[in-house]
Amino acid sequence: MKFLSILLFTILLFSFSSQEKPQDPLVKLEDLSTEFSYQIRYATPYNFIGEKLYDCPVCMLRPEVAEALLQANQYFCEKGYRIKIYDCYRPLDVQKKMWAKVPRATYVGNPYGNGSIHNKGAAVDITLETLDGCYVEMGSDYDYFGREAHIDNYNLSKEILANRKLLFEGMNKFGFNTIRTEWWHFSFRKNWSYKTLNIPLQCS
Ligand SMILES: [Zn+2]
Repeated sequence: MKFLSILLFTILLFSFSSQEKPQDPLVKLEDLSTEFSYQIRYATPYNFIGEKLYDCPVCMLRPEVAEALLQANQYFCEKGYRIKIYDCYRPLDVQKKMWAKVPRATYVGNPYGNGSIHNKGAAVDITLETLDGCYVEMGSDYDYFGREAHIDNYNLSKEILANRKLLFEGMNKFGFNTIRTEWWHFSFRKNWSYKTLNIPLQCS
C-alpha cells in the first residue's frame, strides 16, 4: 500500500512537472494589451545617442510590472489619456553601448556597476497622450538632460504642472516610483530584487 501511494505520488509529480514550461522572465506588453501607444526611441536614430540601438520597437517587462502598467493605463484611460511607451526592458549589451558613448553616471546607468533598472525589466520610460492621440506637454522632450526635465522644477506653466501631476499620481498609485532628474522614468517597487538581464529583445 505504501509502495503504491509513493508510486502514485511520483506519477502525479511527474505529470505536473512535465506540464511546466521553462519560465520566461519577461512578457511582451503588446501581447497583453492593444491600448498602449508606442514610440520606442532606441529602435530609431532619434535618441540622445543618435544611433538605432534596438533591432525592433518592442516593450518587454517582468510580468508583475506589465500587470501594474496595464492597471495604470486603465486609470489614465478613464481620465481621457493613455500611456505612450518610450522604453521598457533594455538588454545589458545596449547599456554598454550607451555607456561607451556617454560614460556619465548622471545620464546613463553604469553597466559595470549597478546598471539600470531597465536592464532588469522593471522600469519604464513613458509619457501620456490623449485618447485621440494628441500630444500632452510635459515641459521637455524625452531624454532631455537638464533642469526642464527635473520633477522638482516647478518653473513651468500651470498646464504642464497639471499634466505631470496626473502622470506621477497615476503611476505612484500602481507601484511606480519617480526619479528626480527624469519626468518620464518610473521604476517598479522592489526593483532591485530582480536580476540584471542580457536576453535579446524578442523581435518576432
Ligand atoms: Zn528610464
